[in-house]
Amino acid sequence: MPARPPVVVIGGGWSGLAAAVELTRNGTAVTLIESAPHVGGRARTVAGPFGAVDNGQHLLIGAYREFLDMLGTLGLREEVLFDRRTLRLHMNDLDGGRDVVISVPALPAPLHLAKGLGSARGLSIGERLAAVRFTTWLQRRGFDIEDTPLGDLLTARGQPPRLTRALWEPLCLATLNTPLAIASSRLFARVLQQTFTGHRSNCDMLLPRVPLGDLLPEPAVAFITEHGGEVRTGSRAIALHTHGGRLAAIGLADGSRLAARHVVLALPPRALGPLLDGHPSLASLRTVLDRFHYQPICTVYLHYPGTVTFEGGLRGVLGGITQWLVDRGSTGTPGVIAAVVSAEGAHMDLDREALAKRVIKEVAALFPRWPAPETNLVIREKRATFASVTGIDALRPDSATSLPGCWLAGDWTATGLPATLEGAVRSGVQSARAVAAALRTGD
Ligand SMILES: Cc1cc2nc3c(=O)[nH]c(=O)nc-3n(C[C@H](O)[C@H](O)[C@H](O)COP(=O)(O)OP(=O)(O)OC[C@H]3O[C@@H](n4cnc5c(N)ncnc54)[C@H](O)[C@@H]3O)c2cc1C
Repeated sequence: MPARPPVVVIGGGWSGLAAAVELTRNGTAVTLIESAPHVGGRARTVAGPFGAVDNGQHLLIGAYREFLDMLGTLGLREEVLFDRRTLRLHMNDLDGGRDVVISVPALPAPLHLAKGLGSARGLSIGERLAAVRFTTWLQRRGFDIEDTPLGDLLTARGQPPRLTRALWEPLCLATLNTPLAIASSRLFARVLQQTFTGHRSNCDMLLPRVPLGDLLPEPAVAFITEHGGEVRTGSRAIALHTHGGRLAAIGLADGSRLAARHVVLALPPRALGPLLDGHPSLASLRTVLDRFHYQPICTVYLHYPGTVTFEGGLRGVLGGITQWLVDRGSTGTPGVIAAVVSAEGAHMDLDREALAKRVIKEVAALFPRWPAPETNLVIREKRATFASVTGIDALRPDSATSLPGCWLAGDWTATGLPATLEGAVRSGVQSARAVAAALRTGD
């Protein structure tokens, strides 16, 4: 039998793992190269002073179809991994404004959204009607709109400032991780489309019951290796070698070369750039990479006595630095509350201690009966996601490149979504299918 052409995946984040799992499922054993000592990339579990914690809060929704399908491949069950809840947003205001509560009822889409917005608590009738008018306007356009800054679009569509502050801005920060003034209205419309069209359950919230590492990274590694593949951590790819105008091998930092007929580069733009240098056929892709910029996410874990908890597990916060609070009790760490601060802002000028102090003060104002936290842990991801700014979506490349044998994956590629786990998995699966199709034709 002729030897099977070697297939390599570079990058052990969710996109690279998804590519490797999909190739494995199709009968192609792969070698996955990851530079860090662990897989998971930007969605991983790290050791903390009060047990294992995630590097950031990852909220998933029912519309994450590609990811949920992959659970089946890995032999995992959604109900074991997630607490599935109907969407309910509860926003507290540190400036003393009324709480805003939006519950999406069990009605078919898109009625559920109209009813949820129309009956929101804490919004005036004018604000509720404006919200319904805006989503109806998007629906009439099939959510396919010209890409302008989201803040400008909301003003142009007559959204009252209080509604924007209580609903659209928190949603923009949570889903696009980009300030409203520069965020892409097109990508925001796609998020609303993904969440609120199709089946009603698309907008369900999936709150993980287990650490992030157990959702995909660890089961994926087990699946790949049990089916004849290999996962090499602590191994950095530093060069692409070509022969006869196509990819032939990967150069590794230890000086070795790994033969490869096909490679999936599942890397963010910043890490991908150096690998493309010196390859004229990839020069235009190299130029596009420079157009991508990044936004941070800070997580402040507060460790309270195990009895501390709040209703619903997720709370929005208005008027402070803190944007969302997540009760980690359902993830097996009772008493741990995670405060999330997405995107750039004045908080990035604070050192860890000052940031934790501010967040603790804000939480104490919202929950005055709670004792002071015993400890805290601040995790700053400076380049958490690419910035979902106006115009960026049109630049995102597909999985195929101009160098035969070389494919792309990653949350920043043309997934149609902002930087998300679902986008990462979708891109990995797409690139794996493209490689499988090429292998079938003898390429
Ligand atoms: C704090 C935080 C909160 C988030 N919250 C959410 C959320 O609530 N919902 C959601 O859907 N998404 C969320 N995201 C986004 C989500 O985590 C990312 O979209 C996703 O993890 C990106 O996966 P990726 O595989 O595309 O990239 P990455 O995870 O960046 O993977 C790339 C991998 O390549 C490796 N690598 C780099 N260079 C090399 C090299 N030369 N050789 C070998 N390996 C290399 C890196 O170490 C890394 O492991 C969040 C992200 C962060 C940081």
